[in-house]
Amino acid sequence: MSKNALITGITGQDGPYLAKFLIEKGYNVYGFLARRGSDTLWRLRYLNIIDDVKIIDGDLLDLSSLIRALETSKADEVYNLAAQSFVGTSWQQPILTTQVTGFSVVNVLEAIRIVNNKIKFYQASTSEMFGKTSETIQCEDTVFHPRSPYGVAKMFGHYITINYRESFNIFGCAGILFNHESPIRGIEFVTRKVTDAVARIKYGKQKKVYLGNIDAQRDWGYAKDYVEAMWLMLQQDKPDDYVVATGKTFSVREMCETAFSYVGLNYKDYVEIDPKLYRPAEVERLLGNPKKAKEKLGWEAKTSMKELIELMAEADLERVKNER
Ligand code: NDP
Ligand code: GDP
Repeated sequence: MSKNALITGITGQDGPYLAKFLIEKGYNVYGFLARRGSDTLWRLRYLNIIDDVKIIDGDLLDLSSLIRALETSKADEVYNLAAQSFVGTSWQQPILTTQVTGFSVVNVLEAIRIVNNKIKFYQASTSEMFGKTSETIQCEDTVFHPRSPYGVAKMFGHYITINYRESFNIFGCAGILFNHESPIRGIEFVTRKVTDAVARIKYGKQKKVYLGNIDAQRDWGYAKDYVEAMWLMLQQDKPDDYVVATGKTFSVREMCETAFSYVGLNYKDYVEIDPKLYRPAEVERLLGNPKKAKEKLGWEAKTSMKELIELMAEADLERVKNER
């Protein structure tokens, strides 16, 4: 019999990639959809799965809606991807970020405890929890030092998942995912901001792109590769936590160089620094060690930073070309 999965954050970047992956594995996929003033389903259309995902209305802040969603979907697996996920916004809306990205995780876990404590649970933890780390390469045991309200909120989600596993035997896994991007990444994140700008500059629709700290370094992977690791975690005999990363790091500057060179331009002619885009506290460098994911899950990143940025630039070139 096919399994049922409920995905929170179905309208974000990762939700649709995970939904597509699970549909291809034969799952019945339910998407937990927060009500907004306008249509948020464009990513499901982009991946051509809009008719294959069953939508259930609800909000992470509303425990009753989560309980109803678990009952309706009869979920075997729950992937908690919903969050206020943009670090920059977390300084402007710290309380909302704490509630949605942090405290709401206990709502999902409580819903599982109430409805069926055999449901397997995936929590979207993040490399942002490492923050101001002194380790040159970060693994599952590296001490956390988050640098934003987002990072702090995610630490709550991480530890409450571990706590429910230890207290109530819930099959809860936390994936400590490093930055992952794609053509459907939010435009506010630096990779997509840059690939979109590259396309607009190429077509004469924009002159410059303004960035903040371009010396920050990130371990960037492809979202499509990373959703498989989420699923693999829930297929193991025992729940555990895993770092998911490529094991390579690049500066924002190097990423810009890659993106602009793809269309034959020199980033130095188009990238301007705007000090207003510097963050109150920066995470200077992230580099993940994916050894445990490789050994235990058999998972490995398949896409390099260059391949990723080029496929994003290509998608943005296509989009901008077709814009009216
Ligand atoms: P996105 O920001 O693209 O998506 C966030 C999703 O959460 C959206 O579907 C959004 O819905 C939903 N959401 C926000 N608030 C609520 C709420 N109150 N109730 C229900 N749904 C809500 O994130 P990504 O897809 O990029 O990331 C998925 C998860 O992984 C997030 O938790 C993120 O923090 C985490 N993560 C991401 C990394 C990355 O590099 N992408 C790295 C490590 C962790 P709506 O569209 O309606 O606002
Ligand atoms: P994050 O790692 O989750 O914060 O992902 P982002 O893509 O938002 O940012 C990655 C890095 O790029 C951070 O160190 C930012 O400070 C840096 N950065 C530099 N300029 C910008 C910018 O204009 N927008 C964003 N989002 N990040 C920028």
